Amino acid sequence: MPINVTRSSMPSMEEYMEEIRPIFESRFLTNMGPVYKKFQHQLIDYLGTQYISLFVNGHMALEMAIQALGLQVPGGEVITTPFTFVSTTHAITRNGLTPVFCDIKPDDYTMDPEKIEALITDRTVAIIPVHVYGNICDVEAIDAIAKKHGLKVIYDAAHAFGETYKGVGIGNFGDASMFSFHATKVFHSIEGGAIAFNDAQYRVRLHELKNFGIHGKEDVLAVGANAKLDEFRAAMGICNLRHIDEYIQSREEVVTHYRERLGGVKGIRLCQPQEDVKSNYAYFPVYFAEKEFGKSRDLVYEDLQKQEIFARKYFYPAVNEMTCYKGLYPQNTPVAHDVSTHILTLPLYEGLSREDVDRICDVILYA
Ligand SMILES: *Cc1c(COP(=O)(O)O)cnc(C)c1O
Repeated sequence: MPINVTRSSMPSMEEYMEEIRPIFESRFLTNMGPVYKKFQHQLIDYLGTQYISLFVNGHMALEMAIQALGLQVPGGEVITTPFTFVSTTHAITRNGLTPVFCDIKPDDYTMDPEKIEALITDRTVAIIPVHVYGNICDVEAIDAIAKKHGLKVIYDAAHAFGETYKGVGIGNFGDASMFSFHATKVFHSIEGGAIAFNDAQYRVRLHELKNFGIHGKEDVLAVGANAKLDEFRAAMGICNLRHIDEYIQSREEVVTHYRERLGGVKGIRLCQPQEDVKSNYAYFPVYFAEKEFGKSRDLVYEDLQKQEIFARKYFYPAVNEMTCYKGLYPQNTPVAHDVSTHILTLPLYEGLSREDVDRICDVILYA
Protein backbone atom coordinates (compact mmCIF):
# COMPACT_ATOMS: atom_id res chain seq x y z
CA MET A 1 0.00 0.00 0.00
CA PRO A 2 1.38 3.40 -0.97
CA ILE A 3 1.94 5.84 1.91
CA ASN A 4 1.25 9.47 1.12
CA VAL A 5 2.77 12.39 2.99
CA THR A 6 -0.61 13.17 4.48
CA ARG A 7 -4.21 11.98 4.65
CA SER A 8 -7.17 14.10 5.62
CA SER A 9 -8.79 13.43 8.98
CA MET A 10 -12.52 12.77 8.65
CA PRO A 11 -15.53 12.39 10.90
CA SER A 12 -17.88 9.50 10.11
CA MET A 13 -20.23 10.06 7.19
CA GLU A 14 -23.20 9.82 9.57
CA GLU A 15 -21.79 12.54 11.78
CA TYR A 16 -21.33 14.87 8.82
CA MET A 17 -24.84 14.07 7.51
CA GLU A 18 -26.29 15.02 10.87
CA GLU A 19 -24.46 18.33 10.77
CA ILE A 20 -25.59 19.26 7.25
CA ARG A 21 -29.23 18.21 7.70
CA PRO A 22 -30.31 21.69 8.86
CA ILE A 23 -28.69 23.21 5.76
CA PHE A 24 -30.89 21.04 3.52
CA GLU A 25 -33.91 22.03 5.54
CA SER A 26 -33.23 25.79 5.54
CA ARG A 27 -31.70 26.05 2.02
CA PHE A 28 -29.39 28.68 3.47
CA LEU A 29 -26.11 27.60 1.87
CA THR A 30 -23.66 30.45 2.37
CA ASN A 31 -23.30 34.17 3.26
CA MET A 32 -22.41 33.78 6.91
CA GLY A 33 -25.39 31.63 7.91
CA PRO A 34 -26.11 29.82 11.17
CA VAL A 35 -23.55 27.04 10.65
CA TYR A 36 -20.83 29.61 9.90
CA LYS A 37 -21.72 31.44 13.11
CA LYS A 38 -21.77 28.25 15.20
CA PHE A 39 -18.35 27.26 13.81
CA GLN A 40 -17.01 30.76 14.44
CA HIS A 41 -18.06 30.69 18.09
CA GLN A 42 -16.65 27.24 18.67
CA LEU A 43 -13.33 28.40 17.24
CA ILE A 44 -13.25 31.45 19.49
CA ASP A 45 -13.60 29.03 22.41
CA TYR A 46 -10.98 26.64 21.12
CA LEU A 47 -8.36 29.13 19.95
CA GLY A 48 -8.90 31.53 22.83
CA THR A 49 -8.90 34.81 20.89
CA GLN A 50 -11.50 37.58 21.11
CA TYR A 51 -12.45 37.43 17.44
CA ILE A 52 -12.39 35.01 14.53
CA SER A 53 -13.27 35.86 10.96
CA LEU A 54 -13.77 32.87 8.66
CA PHE A 55 -12.67 32.64 5.04
CA VAL A 56 -12.92 30.34 2.06
CA ASN A 57 -9.23 29.48 2.52
CA GLY A 58 -6.17 30.57 4.45
CA HIS A 59 -4.62 32.40 1.54
CA MET A 60 -7.54 34.79 1.04
CA ALA A 61 -7.68 35.27 4.80
CA LEU A 62 -4.06 36.45 4.76
CA GLU A 63 -4.57 38.74 1.77
CA MET A 64 -7.54 40.34 3.47
CA ALA A 65 -5.82 40.64 6.85
CA ILE A 66 -3.15 42.73 5.09
CA GLN A 67 -5.94 44.91 3.67
CA ALA A 68 -7.91 45.16 6.91
CA LEU A 69 -4.81 46.32 8.77
CA GLY A 70 -4.37 49.10 6.20
CA LEU A 71 -0.94 47.95 5.06
CA GLN A 72 -1.39 48.64 1.35
CA VAL A 73 0.84 51.70 1.36
CA PRO A 74 2.42 52.46 -2.06
CA GLY A 75 6.04 51.30 -1.95
CA GLY A 76 5.45 49.50 1.34
CA GLU A 77 7.78 46.70 2.40
CA VAL A 78 6.95 43.62 4.46
CA ILE A 79 9.62 41.61 6.23
CA THR A 80 8.88 37.92 5.82
CA THR A 81 10.50 34.50 5.56
CA PRO A 82 11.47 32.67 2.37
CA PHE A 83 11.10 29.33 4.17
CA THR A 84 7.36 28.87 3.85
CA PHE A 85 4.60 27.82 1.51
CA VAL A 86 4.48 30.28 -1.38
CA SER A 87 1.08 31.58 -0.26
CA THR A 88 2.73 33.78 2.40
CA THR A 89 4.77 35.72 -0.18
CA HIS A 90 1.96 35.79 -2.76
CA ALA A 91 -0.33 37.45 -0.20
CA ILE A 92 2.23 40.26 0.13
CA THR A 93 3.00 40.79 -3.56
CA ARG A 94 -0.65 40.44 -4.67
CA ASN A 95 -1.36 43.38 -2.36
CA GLY A 96 1.21 45.49 -4.21
CA LEU A 97 3.74 45.26 -1.39
CA THR A 98 7.40 44.29 -1.56
CA PRO A 99 8.57 41.21 0.35
CA VAL A 100 11.87 41.63 2.18
CA PHE A 101 13.26 38.20 2.97
CA CYS A 102 14.68 37.65 6.43
CA ASP A 103 16.74 34.54 7.13
CA ILE A 104 15.64 31.76 9.49
CA LYS A 105 17.08 30.11 12.57
CA PRO A 106 18.92 26.84 11.92
CA ASP A 107 17.25 25.02 14.83
CA ASP A 108 13.51 25.57 14.35
CA TYR A 109 13.47 27.22 10.89
CA THR A 110 11.40 30.21 12.03
CA MET A 111 12.33 33.83 11.27
CA ASP A 112 15.55 34.86 13.03
CA PRO A 113 14.63 37.89 15.17
CA GLU A 114 18.27 38.97 15.33
CA LYS A 115 18.23 39.59 11.59
CA ILE A 116 15.02 41.63 11.45
CA GLU A 117 16.12 45.10 12.52
CA ALA A 118 18.82 45.41 9.83
CA LEU A 119 16.04 44.99 7.24
CA ILE A 120 13.75 47.74 8.55
CA THR A 121 13.60 50.88 6.39
CA ASP A 122 11.28 53.90 6.38
CA ARG A 123 9.12 51.96 3.91
CA THR A 124 8.60 48.93 6.17
CA VAL A 125 4.95 48.52 7.18
CA ALA A 126 4.78 45.04 8.70
CA ILE A 127 6.40 41.74 9.62
CA ILE A 128 4.79 38.50 8.44
CA PRO A 129 6.55 35.56 10.11
CA VAL A 130 5.47 31.93 9.84
CA HIS A 131 5.08 29.33 12.62
CA VAL A 132 6.62 26.89 10.20
CA TYR A 133 5.83 23.15 10.75
CA GLY A 134 4.01 24.31 13.87
CA ASN A 135 7.32 25.51 15.36
CA ILE A 136 6.40 28.69 17.18
CA CYS A 137 8.33 31.85 16.22
CA ASP A 138 10.11 33.82 18.91
CA VAL A 139 6.90 35.79 19.39
CA GLU A 140 8.20 37.84 22.30
CA ALA A 141 11.24 39.13 20.39
CA ILE A 142 9.32 39.73 17.17
CA ASP A 143 6.42 41.53 18.85
CA ALA A 144 8.91 43.70 20.79
CA ILE A 145 10.78 44.71 17.61
CA ALA A 146 7.48 45.53 15.89
CA LYS A 147 6.34 47.65 18.81
CA LYS A 148 9.63 49.55 18.94
CA HIS A 149 9.41 50.42 15.23
CA GLY A 150 5.64 50.91 14.99
CA LEU A 151 5.12 47.93 12.69
CA LYS A 152 2.18 45.57 12.42
CA VAL A 153 2.68 41.81 12.78
CA ILE A 154 0.56 39.17 11.08
CA TYR A 155 1.56 35.61 11.88
CA ASP A 156 1.06 32.96 9.23
CA ALA A 157 -0.21 30.33 11.66
CA ALA A 158 -1.37 27.95 8.91
CA HIS A 159 0.61 25.14 10.60
CA ALA A 160 -0.11 26.09 14.20
CA PHE A 161 -3.79 25.32 14.78
CA GLY A 162 -4.55 24.66 18.44
CA GLU A 163 -1.04 25.36 19.70
CA THR A 164 -0.35 27.40 22.81
CA TYR A 165 2.70 29.29 24.05
CA LYS A 166 2.98 29.58 27.86
CA GLY A 167 -0.62 28.46 27.98
CA VAL A 168 -1.84 31.26 25.68
CA GLY A 169 -3.52 30.41 22.36
CA ILE A 170 -1.08 31.11 19.54
CA GLY A 171 -3.57 33.37 17.75
CA ASN A 172 -3.12 35.97 20.50
CA PHE A 173 0.30 37.18 19.35
CA GLY A 174 0.95 40.04 16.95
CA ASP A 175 -1.96 42.03 15.51
CA ALA A 176 -3.53 39.05 13.76
CA SER A 177 -2.89 35.40 12.93
CA MET A 178 -3.97 33.41 9.91
CA PHE A 179 -5.03 29.78 10.23
CA SER A 180 -5.54 27.49 7.25
CA PHE A 181 -8.23 24.82 7.31
CA HIS A 182 -7.10 23.16 4.11
CA ALA A 183 -7.76 19.41 3.81
CA THR A 184 -4.07 18.63 4.33
CA LYS A 185 -3.75 20.52 7.60
CA VAL A 186 -4.02 19.19 11.17
CA PHE A 187 -7.50 20.65 11.36
CA HIS A 188 -9.60 21.27 8.27
CA SER A 189 -12.95 22.29 6.84
CA ILE A 190 -12.11 20.82 3.38
CA GLU A 191 -11.01 24.31 2.29
CA GLY A 192 -11.16 27.16 4.74
CA GLY A 193 -9.24 29.60 6.83
CA ALA A 194 -9.51 32.20 9.54
CA ILE A 195 -8.06 35.37 10.90
CA ALA A 196 -7.77 35.45 14.69
CA PHE A 197 -7.38 38.86 16.34
CA ASN A 198 -8.16 40.81 19.50
CA ASP A 199 -8.74 44.35 18.20
CA ALA A 200 -12.42 45.05 17.53
CA GLN A 201 -11.65 47.60 14.80
CA TYR A 202 -10.76 44.84 12.30
CA ARG A 203 -14.02 42.98 12.77
CA VAL A 204 -16.29 44.85 10.38
CA ARG A 205 -13.53 45.44 7.84
CA LEU A 206 -12.68 41.74 7.55
CA HIS A 207 -16.36 40.87 7.40
CA GLU A 208 -16.99 43.32 4.57
CA LEU A 209 -13.81 42.62 2.58
CA LYS A 210 -14.73 38.94 2.18
CA ASN A 211 -18.13 39.97 0.80
CA PHE A 212 -17.14 42.41 -1.98
CA GLY A 213 -16.78 45.30 0.48
CA ILE A 214 -20.56 45.53 0.77
CA HIS A 215 -21.61 47.68 3.74
CA GLY A 216 -25.17 47.39 4.98
CA LYS A 217 -27.74 47.00 2.22
CA GLU A 218 -27.05 49.90 -0.09
CA ASP A 219 -23.39 50.84 -0.13
CA VAL A 220 -19.94 49.44 -0.88
CA LEU A 221 -17.10 50.86 1.20
CA ALA A 222 -14.09 48.87 0.04
CA VAL A 223 -12.91 47.10 -3.10
CA GLY A 224 -13.41 43.67 -1.60
CA ALA A 225 -13.62 40.23 -3.17
CA ASN A 226 -15.50 37.02 -2.52
CA ALA A 227 -13.86 34.90 0.15
CA LYS A 228 -16.76 33.61 2.23
CA LEU A 229 -16.74 30.21 3.93
CA ASP A 230 -19.93 28.31 2.99
CA GLU A 231 -22.20 26.35 5.31
CA PHE A 232 -21.16 22.86 4.15
CA ARG A 233 -17.50 23.53 4.84
CA ALA A 234 -18.33 25.11 8.17
CA ALA A 235 -20.21 21.89 9.01
CA MET A 236 -17.10 19.83 8.22
CA GLY A 237 -15.12 22.16 10.47
CA ILE A 238 -17.59 21.65 13.31
CA CYS A 239 -17.31 17.86 12.97
CA ASN A 240 -13.51 17.90 12.87
CA LEU A 241 -13.29 20.27 15.81
CA ARG A 242 -15.18 17.67 17.88
CA HIS A 243 -12.33 15.22 17.23
CA ILE A 244 -9.32 17.53 17.11
CA ASP A 245 -7.85 16.35 20.41
CA GLU A 246 -7.95 12.70 19.24
CA TYR A 247 -6.36 13.69 15.92
CA ILE A 248 -3.52 15.51 17.66
CA GLN A 249 -2.96 12.67 20.12
CA SER A 250 -2.70 10.15 17.29
CA ARG A 251 -0.19 12.40 15.53
CA GLU A 252 1.82 12.67 18.73
CA GLU A 253 2.12 8.87 18.87
CA VAL A 254 3.43 8.82 15.28
CA VAL A 255 5.97 11.56 16.05
CA THR A 256 7.11 9.80 19.24
CA HIS A 257 7.81 6.64 17.26
CA TYR A 258 9.66 8.53 14.52
CA ARG A 259 11.81 10.13 17.23
CA GLU A 260 12.59 6.74 18.77
CA ARG A 261 13.72 5.42 15.41
CA LEU A 262 15.54 8.45 13.98
CA GLY A 263 16.67 10.44 17.02
CA GLY A 264 20.44 10.32 17.58
CA VAL A 265 21.23 8.88 14.14
CA LYS A 266 24.43 10.42 12.79
CA GLY A 267 23.70 12.96 10.04
CA ILE A 268 19.99 13.23 10.84
CA ARG A 269 18.75 16.42 12.48
CA LEU A 270 15.29 16.64 14.03
CA CYS A 271 13.52 19.69 15.44
CA GLN A 272 13.53 19.57 19.22
CA PRO A 273 10.26 20.02 21.13
CA GLN A 274 9.94 23.72 22.01
CA GLU A 275 9.85 24.89 25.60
CA ASP A 276 6.49 26.25 26.82
CA VAL A 277 4.74 25.15 23.61
CA LYS A 278 1.82 22.75 23.37
CA SER A 279 2.48 21.22 19.96
CA ASN A 280 -0.03 20.01 17.37
CA TYR A 281 2.47 17.64 15.69
CA ALA A 282 1.69 19.10 12.29
CA TYR A 283 4.78 17.94 10.41
CA PHE A 284 7.85 15.79 10.87
CA PRO A 285 10.73 17.50 9.07
CA VAL A 286 14.07 15.72 8.90
CA TYR A 287 17.33 17.42 7.91
CA PHE A 288 19.79 15.12 6.18
CA ALA A 289 23.45 16.12 6.44
CA GLU A 290 24.74 14.22 3.43
CA LYS A 291 28.36 13.72 4.55
CA GLU A 292 27.61 12.34 8.00
CA PHE A 293 24.51 10.38 7.00
CA GLY A 294 25.99 8.97 3.83
CA LYS A 295 22.96 9.75 1.66
CA SER A 296 21.61 13.05 0.36
CA ARG A 297 18.08 14.29 0.96
CA ASP A 298 17.29 13.70 -2.70
CA LEU A 299 18.53 10.12 -2.55
CA VAL A 300 16.42 9.37 0.54
CA TYR A 301 13.44 10.89 -1.25
CA GLU A 302 14.00 8.60 -4.23
CA ASP A 303 14.58 5.50 -2.07
CA LEU A 304 11.24 6.16 -0.39
CA GLN A 305 9.49 6.79 -3.68
CA LYS A 306 10.68 3.43 -5.03
CA GLN A 307 8.79 1.81 -2.14
CA GLU A 308 5.71 3.93 -2.87
CA ILE A 309 6.33 6.10 0.18
CA PHE A 310 5.78 9.73 -0.69
CA ALA A 311 7.66 12.16 1.50
CA ARG A 312 7.75 15.81 0.49
CA LYS A 313 10.58 18.26 -0.15
CA TYR A 314 8.80 20.85 1.93
CA PHE A 315 9.88 23.63 1.51
CA TYR A 316 11.96 23.35 -1.62
CA PRO A 317 12.88 25.55 -3.33
CA ALA A 318 12.88 28.45 -0.87
CA VAL A 319 10.33 31.03 -2.06
CA ASN A 320 12.99 33.54 -3.10
CA GLU A 321 14.45 30.90 -5.43
CA MET A 322 11.20 30.17 -7.25
CA THR A 323 11.01 31.36 -10.84
CA CYS A 324 8.36 33.99 -10.10
CA TYR A 325 10.49 35.64 -7.38
CA LYS A 326 14.09 34.75 -8.23
CA GLY A 327 16.35 37.77 -8.53
CA LEU A 328 13.51 40.25 -7.97
CA TYR A 329 14.32 41.26 -4.42
CA PRO A 330 17.62 41.73 -2.63
CA GLN A 331 18.19 38.87 -0.27
CA ASN A 332 20.69 37.24 1.97
CA THR A 333 19.16 34.04 3.32
CA PRO A 334 21.85 31.34 3.37
CA VAL A 335 20.23 29.35 6.19
CA ALA A 336 16.90 29.14 4.34
CA HIS A 337 18.75 27.97 1.24
CA ASP A 338 20.66 25.35 3.20
CA VAL A 339 17.60 23.99 5.00
CA SER A 340 15.45 23.91 1.87
CA THR A 341 18.05 21.77 0.10
CA HIS A 342 18.45 19.27 2.98
CA ILE A 343 14.96 18.86 4.40
CA LEU A 344 12.30 16.22 3.89
CA THR A 345 8.95 16.07 5.66
CA LEU A 346 7.98 12.47 6.31
CA PRO A 347 4.45 11.02 6.06
CA LEU A 348 2.47 12.07 9.11
CA TYR A 349 -1.23 11.86 9.70
CA GLU A 350 -3.74 10.76 12.25
CA GLY A 351 -3.96 6.97 12.14
CA LEU A 352 -0.58 6.30 10.45
CA SER A 353 0.34 2.92 11.91
CA ARG A 354 3.42 2.01 13.90
CA GLU A 355 4.23 -0.61 11.25
CA ASP A 356 4.17 2.00 8.51
CA VAL A 357 6.45 4.30 10.50
CA ASP A 358 8.84 1.37 10.90
CA ARG A 359 8.68 0.64 7.18
CA ILE A 360 9.48 4.29 6.39
CA CYS A 361 12.37 4.41 8.87
CA ASP A 362 13.79 1.12 7.59
CA VAL A 363 13.96 2.53 4.06
CA ILE A 364 15.59 5.74 5.31
CA LEU A 365 18.16 3.92 7.44
CA TYR A 366 18.90 0.76 5.48
CA ALA A 367 17.91 1.12 1.80
C1 LIG B 1 -1.53 25.97 3.68
C2 LIG B 1 -0.74 27.20 3.87
C3 LIG B 1 -1.21 28.47 3.47
C4 LIG B 1 -2.44 28.67 2.64
O1 LIG B 1 -3.58 28.13 3.17
P1 LIG B 1 -4.78 27.66 2.22
O2 LIG B 1 -5.88 27.39 3.18
O3 LIG B 1 -4.32 26.44 1.50
O4 LIG B 1 -5.09 28.78 1.29
C5 LIG B 1 -0.45 29.58 3.79
N1 LIG B 1 0.70 29.48 4.47
C6 LIG B 1 1.21 28.29 4.84
C7 LIG B 1 2.50 28.25 5.59
C8 LIG B 1 0.51 27.11 4.53
O5 LIG B 1 1.03 25.94 4.87
